[in-house]
Amino acid sequence: MFEKYKALTEKEAVSYAHSLPGLFAPDAELLNKEIGDGNLNLVFHIADQKSGKSVILKQALPYARVVGESWPLTLDRSRIEAEALKQAAKRVSSLVPQVYFYDSQLALTAIEDLSDHIILRKGLIAGTRYPQLAEDLSTYLAHTLFYTSDYYLDPQEKKEKVRQFINPEMCKITEDLVFTDPYYNADTNSFNPLIRESVESIWNNNELKREIAHLKEAFMTRTQALLHGDLHTGSIMVKEDSTKVIDPEFAYYGPIGFDVGAIVANLLLSYVSHEAHSLEPDKREAFQKWLLETSEKIWTGFETKFRTLWEKHVKDEIWLTEGYVDDILLQILRDTAGFAGCKMMRRVIGLAPVADLELIEPAEVRAEAETNALLIGQQLILKRKSLHKVSELTDIARQVL
Ligand code: ADP
Ligand code: MG
Ligand code: MG
Ligand code: MG
Repeated sequence: MFEKYKALTEKEAVSYAHSLPGLFAPDAELLNKEIGDGNLNLVFHIADQKSGKSVILKQALPYARVVGESWPLTLDRSRIEAEALKQAAKRVSSLVPQVYFYDSQLALTAIEDLSDHIILRKGLIAGTRYPQLAEDLSTYLAHTLFYTSDYYLDPQEKKEKVRQFINPEMCKITEDLVFTDPYYNADTNSFNPLIRESVESIWNNNELKREIAHLKEAFMTRTQALLHGDLHTGSIMVKEDSTKVIDPEFAYYGPIGFDVGAIVANLLLSYVSHEAHSLEPDKREAFQKWLLETSEKIWTGFETKFRTLWEKHVKDEIWLTEGYVDDILLQILRDTAGFAGCKMMRRVIGLAPVADLELIEPAEVRAEAETNALLIGQQLILKRKSLHKVSELTDIARQVL
């Protein structure tokens, strides 16, 4: 339909969707809405008024949407995203949207419409609890990560996959925005002027930055498993009894704790934000308690499921040495804490803030939540090497509020 890449208009997206084989009838009455609220891409929701059938078309733009054309960005992330969704579907098909079609020319993917779900971040801001969340996310993490690691794959096949998912431009964004810029006076930063003192104390904290340097190195060099790479609560869609993970355009081979830590960080950001969002003390306490319990259950569920997969699949003699899997899981727990700490701080100090905090008014109240996020973030990083169980991680959050 198109000979070379072009960003589709709403009208073009409709004719494109109509032309996809086996999706819409010839006489379909298609209605289109651009619903992208993310930082990077176009997302079209196209529905047939007659049959009720619908589809999502997600198209990568050759630049970052938040910043504009001055920040060029590879279209290859679209291939990575479609491929990562397909990989995940092999192991946890009920926890990701189905990919119908991928068009490399247009850097566009046709995916299952999840409009009956909402973005988890929005649900959390509203104070909604999701009873299925911990079970689903721990399954997602254990299965997507174990099955793409050296613990499962043939070493040749694994190295082939590392190559397939090499994602240098997207990794560079993380390297800068999560691991470097927030910790010095970088141009990309933008933070509430009322928290300048806390931010400067981070910039001046050599001990902390030294630990962040180690975490950055782990992110850049440890090809442990195929990560989602951007697993915040805006990349998870939910309803009461269903969880779907979307948007893996940052997928690459990295340290397992980076994905687990992304979820934990965002649950803890929600935790600090509810000092402001929930005005009624009983309700607030109950919701904050649920957030910490959910973080713990995600970890314990992940650990149990990872061990089950280990026992079932690991055959290598040296890896079966007693104590080794315990060492791996302890390292993942400590990585989880460290990466979660970085991810909390970057959302306060750096580019791309989160609505959980951004929506808090007035600025004085927001500053309190932001300061608490910074305190928790720092403690997670500094205390991570002494952690032995997940309750010690959540205790860091309990002690700050
Ligand atoms: P970006 O990479 O730009 O962040 P996302 O994949 O996160 O794009 O999508 C942006 C928004 O579009 C999501 O926050 C969600 O509201 C909506 N969206 C994305 N995928 C779907 C889907 N499969 N079904 C319904 N809505 C979706
Ligand atoms: Mg997104
Ligand atoms: Mg900010
Ligand atoms: Mg994205």
